[in-house]
Amino acid sequence: MGIGGNWDRRLFSRRRFLGTAGGLAALLALGSPAEKAVAAPRFSDYPFKLGVASGDPRPDSVVLWTRLAPEPLLEDGSGGVAPERYDVRWEIAADENFRKVVRRGSAAARPGLGHSVHAEVEGLRQGREFFYRFKAGDEISAVGRTKTAPPFDARLASLAFAFVSCQDWRDGFYAAYKRLAEEDLDFVVHLGDYIYEGGNTDDGVRDHTDGGREVFTLAEYRNRHALYKTDEDLQAAHAAFPWMVTWDDHEVDNDYADGAPDGDQDPGAFLRRRAAGYRAYYEHMPLRRSSLPKGPDMRLYRRLSWGDLVGISLLDTRQYRSDQPGCTSDVDGLAERCAGALSESQTITGPRQERWLKEGLARSRKGWNVTAQQTMLAEYDFSAIPDGQPNGQLFNMDQWDGYVAARRRLIGFLDRARVRNPITITGDIHSSWVHDLKTDFDDPASRTVGTEFVGTSISSPFETAFSGPVEAARADNPHCKYVDGTYRGYARCDVTPDLWLTTFKAVVTAPGNGNVVDPDAPSYTAAAFAVESGVPGAQRDI
Ligand code: FE
Ligand code: CA
Repeated sequence: MGIGGNWDRRLFSRRRFLGTAGGLAALLALGSPAEKAVAAPRFSDYPFKLGVASGDPRPDSVVLWTRLAPEPLLEDGSGGVAPERYDVRWEIAADENFRKVVRRGSAAARPGLGHSVHAEVEGLRQGREFFYRFKAGDEISAVGRTKTAPPFDARLASLAFAFVSCQDWRDGFYAAYKRLAEEDLDFVVHLGDYIYEGGNTDDGVRDHTDGGREVFTLAEYRNRHALYKTDEDLQAAHAAFPWMVTWDDHEVDNDYADGAPDGDQDPGAFLRRRAAGYRAYYEHMPLRRSSLPKGPDMRLYRRLSWGDLVGISLLDTRQYRSDQPGCTSDVDGLAERCAGALSESQTITGPRQERWLKEGLARSRKGWNVTAQQTMLAEYDFSAIPDGQPNGQLFNMDQWDGYVAARRRLIGFLDRARVRNPITITGDIHSSWVHDLKTDFDDPASRTVGTEFVGTSISSPFETAFSGPVEAARADNPHCKYVDGTYRGYARCDVTPDLWLTTFKAVVTAPGNGNVVDPDAPSYTAAAFAVESGVPGAQRDI
């Protein structure tokens, strides 16, 4: 989608836009009306270089996002904008040419939030497609397309969405987003690792141009997000569909758990780092005010839905989790299971979120109940048996395998409460997997109560040396129907009342390392799995 056509200035006379409910609501919600906006803003360069986005669609409402950043990578993190308030006008229309504008308003872009804009547009028609754009001074943004959710009780015949994760900018191009933007989807779910906090590497496909170092401060996190957002394929994917986003670890720090950082970092300094990472995340995502961070805290878990067909609980399994049980590993990695992993007090959601999740699932009348989250829920014993001799078991302590009691509570609840058609969608591991969710993973005869689909990364690498042993270990994990770490891409889900179909869409990667080295790489279908309503567990379709 290109830059919008001529903005009709008559529609934006001062009198008219001060009169809209949107303008007033924005003033009331975003701070003191006495704080005057810059009257006739001029920018050193085009201010909408980071594109536009929309998110958290509800039946009559959607969030519109952009950020003023004429110089997105300026070292001070200001984006090249003076530290003053700017009013950014937005309009949303039923047509791409903005002949049928249905709402318009203005939202404040403030220096404390990186001059980001989060316009929560209300009063829209339910289940409709819309087009939106922004204006600041004389500058007009690209046009984005979005959708409102159908009414909560609408009987839908079908919907389609994609889920994505792990887009390390260093390790490849975003051809997966180019292909995703060409799909016909209702929405996109992002499951985390939107940025990576680490520095440049010797074997990267691209070098960071934001300084290239590991990031710690607000200015550095801001610029890392801004660097990612300059990618035109990522911008195209945002402009094409509304997104529902949640984070994983790399938005702050590899494998962090609540206040526990990776490696040796001062705990106080780490909480300040977390606050910077959370703030920069909020600034760059189409999130509602209910997610506005307060210091090192930010409420990200929430529930969205699409008619009566799908309810989606988006989890945050980083902010409230107990530290990974070290067991026999000192890097939160693969380890033999020890008492720490089995402890009843291990939690990956925190008790409040766990209660909220169960209450929501118990109440839900949706046809399919999706839990959108970060690390693999199903058990996976990574120890292959190369010579037929039984050996020890190896589990990834950063996954739910380090939180065995929490998993037992959740799957036991899905079983006892007879939650309708539980589906879990997962990111983090840079490879594609399908699992039956069992009441007892060590007993293949135990009940299957749901299905987990793990999507591969957009660009982040999967260790090729790891593929063989992981594949070989499948014999020890009969609930695992599929694993493939050889390709990057995204997962497309086509849902009807009777059938759920997950299609793993792959992009062509370089032989040997699996990196996407061609920004125009074509896509192909790697595999597809179906779940019949009322019959938990996946069947291979393609
Ligand atoms: Fe990742
Ligand atoms: Ca991760």
